[in-house]
Amino acid sequence: MTLPRSNQDWIAGIAGDGLVTIGDPRLKQATVPVTDARDVPELLAAMVDRLRGLNGAGLAAPQIGAAVRVVIVEVRRTDVFPDRPETPLLQMINPTISGRSDSEVTDWEGCFSVPGFMGQVPRAERVTVTYTTPDGSQVTEEHEGYAARVIQHEVDHLDGIEFLDRMRSMQTITTVQNYLAFHRNVAS
Ligand code: ZN
Repeated sequence: MTLPRSNQDWIAGIAGDGLVTIGDPRLKQATVPVTDARDVPELLAAMVDRLRGLNGAGLAAPQIGAAVRVVIVEVRRTDVFPDRPETPLLQMINPTISGRSDSEVTDWEGCFSVPGFMGQVPRAERVTVTYTTPDGSQVTEEHEGYAARVIQHEVDHLDGIEFLDRMRSMQTITTVQNYLAFHRNVAS
C-alpha cells in the first residue's frame, strides 16, 4: 500500500497559499473563544478541507488567519510519518488541556507555519482535554501518544506558541529533507 505523500511544498520550505507562517504577527495574536458552536461550521469545514489537502495531522484556526479558539486533529500516516498511529477527525472548539501526565515523550514535529523544518519536542505523554464539539456538546477526553502530541501542538497555536518554543534546545533543528536523509528511524 502506498502512503499519501506529505505536502511537497512543506517539505521544500514553501509556505502554503494563505497559511500564516512564523514571523507573521497573526500567529501571535490573541484568540477569542467561540460563543456558539453554530457560528463555526464553515470555519471547521474549511479547516478540514485544508488539512486533508495538506495531508497534515492538525491545524489551528490562527494558521489560516482566524483568531478564534478552534483546532482540528486527524492523524493519517504519510510517507514522511509512516509509523504514526492514526486518529479519527477531532473538531475542537474552545479546547483546554486540564491535565498533563508527568511522563514526557520526545519526538519529531513539524508545522505548516514553519515550512521546511522539523525538531524534537518533549510533550506530555497523556493529556486530558475538554472542548465543545460542532454539535454543541461539551466533552472531556483523554488522549495519549502521538494524538496527545498533536493536540498539545495545536492548542499551543491558540496561545501563540510554536513547536520551536517548546524545544529544549535548537540542537535537533533540521530541514525536512535532512530529516528524511539522516534522522528518520534513528533512535534519539
Ligand atoms: Zn503547527
